[in-house]
Amino acid sequence: MIEVDWARLKAHELRKLASENAIVILPIASIEQHGPHLPVMTDTRLGQEIAHRAARKAYSTRAVVVAPVVWSGLSEHHMAFGGTLTLSHDTFRRVVRDLIEAITRQGFKDILISNSHGGNIIAIQQILDELAPTSKATVVATNYDIEAGEDLSRHLQDQPSVMHAGEAETSMMLVCERDLVDTSNITKLASPEGGKHFLSAGRNSYRWRPFTHMTENGLTGNPTRSNATKGEKMLEAGAKALANLLIDPETWAAPKDLRLTKTGIF
Ligand SMILES: [Zn+2]
Repeated sequence: MIEVDWARLKAHELRKLASENAIVILPIASIEQHGPHLPVMTDTRLGQEIAHRAARKAYSTRAVVVAPVVWSGLSEHHMAFGGTLTLSHDTFRRVVRDLIEAITRQGFKDILISNSHGGNIIAIQQILDELAPTSKATVVATNYDIEAGEDLSRHLQDQPSVMHAGEAETSMMLVCERDLVDTSNITKLASPEGGKHFLSAGRNSYRWRPFTHMTENGLTGNPTRSNATKGEKMLEAGAKALANLLIDPETWAAPKDLRLTKTGIF
């Protein structure tokens, strides 16, 4: 099998990959509570699995290497349930910026941030807004579940999308880490229909709240009918969506410049 794991390669192999214009996937995730039945590494483990599968799928079209998962994300909203490690926004921004800078200095020109934790989404977009205008690399950010959309969620029976520690994540973890999933009480864990989303107010306004506002046991969704067959299909759907993004030349194409003559300043 092709080696796509940055950490398992040797320096000269990575120099060669940079010279061949390989893409780097930088997975970003979290270590945070995932209810009473899943380990706190769930987002990190799933992010790693999907990134590696995507890299192997894309490789015959274009070489891809996967950096180690940044497990330290933004999880303040989960702190009250225990088991959760979070960074401040300042530190998170510096970590992501520094890693993109280091990857760029190795000569890689195309970087895909593959995020697998909802709490990181807005911060990653802000980092890209800040970095992109002057970066030597093209940096694209994705979330496997959003990129896969219906291709992934159509496998779910009891919830509309991935959610937190519910049917989707439990099913995928049954594939990746069977021994770490506690299925003994799984049929009783469904989160009762909550009221408002914990990060909203009014019709369409934002309010920060802790995750305890949403759930009594730390999960949203319904893991009752989770199984590994379903999990395998969802992992493949996520990986396929990322592979398609990786091999699409439009993902990495230079921005257009539609200025008319004499309308630009440089
Ligand atoms: Zn999760």
